[in-house]
Amino acid sequence: MTHAFQPVLERIAQEIGALADRGRPADYIPALAAVDPGAFGMAVAELDGTVHGVGEWRRPFSAQSLTKVFTLALVLAEEGDALWEHVGREPSGNPFNSLVQLEYENGIPRNPFINAGALVVTDRLHRLTGDASGRLLRFLREESGDDRLGSDRDVAASEAEHGDRNAALAHFMASYGNITTPVPVLLREYFRQCAIEASCADLAVATGFLARHGLRADGSRLLSRSRAKQVNAVMLTCGTYDAAGEFAHRVGLPGKSGVGGGIVAVVPGTCTLCVWSPGLDARGNSVAGVAALDRFTTLTGLSVF
Ligand code: GLU
Repeated sequence: MTHAFQPVLERIAQEIGALADRGRPADYIPALAAVDPGAFGMAVAELDGTVHGVGEWRRPFSAQSLTKVFTLALVLAEEGDALWEHVGREPSGNPFNSLVQLEYENGIPRNPFINAGALVVTDRLHRLTGDASGRLLRFLREESGDDRLGSDRDVAASEAEHGDRNAALAHFMASYGNITTPVPVLLREYFRQCAIEASCADLAVATGFLARHGLRADGSRLLSRSRAKQVNAVMLTCGTYDAAGEFAHRVGLPGKSGVGGGIVAVVPGTCTLCVWSPGLDARGNSVAGVAALDRFTTLTGLSVF
């Protein structure tokens, strides 16, 4: 079935323009606070990489936690189920940077998308490749076809300067032996990863392997069909902080949000989406981004349910 995505995107942009409350950009990393909360872009990528967009869909923004989808996929591709001995796959119901569950669960984070879990995944990727952020950037460049993708030094430095919580998480897990890269090295890699800048077009296209059931842009296989399903399932249940139930209820797609205001979402077998608007709600999800995806699934009837 073919869908006329462009008119849908244009209608959504118009409706989003009328949204009264757009939330507030993240301010816990000063480099993110400066972004205009009114900015909005959205892109839909079809399975063959054809991409449609509206608003500022070609403007790079701070990908932040969206990158956690790609590091998870890269580690699963390399080491398979062994990863699940180090990180769980249950929603945490707690804020993304929470420490509380780690002590009860012997340093094993609840899922790969809270910060503790993402640090474990980056640790695994760094052990496998010796260059976690470099490996991730290479993958994103290859999948998006955009060679200019890079990590913003100022954002990474700002994260490091305000990184006490992530350092605490990493040291705590290292005390259980669940992280083995030296913590300062791991944090450097993790902050570089979070500070990657990419546009909605880049990220929608780069997420395509999840809609193609594990196949990369060049047709080679990154993940088995079953593993691609697993990544989508973890996105659905854990991808939007402690509001994953609300997101599933409103949008009905696997999605992953980041504090830069981006959200990627997957319609398996059909397309991938990325929406960006930096104003966040109290739980860290882009207000206009969730609203736009909500409208997309309503207008097109596309969802996993
Ligand atoms: N760099 C952020 C942090 O670890 C990522 C947060 C996010 O996007 O959820 O604090």
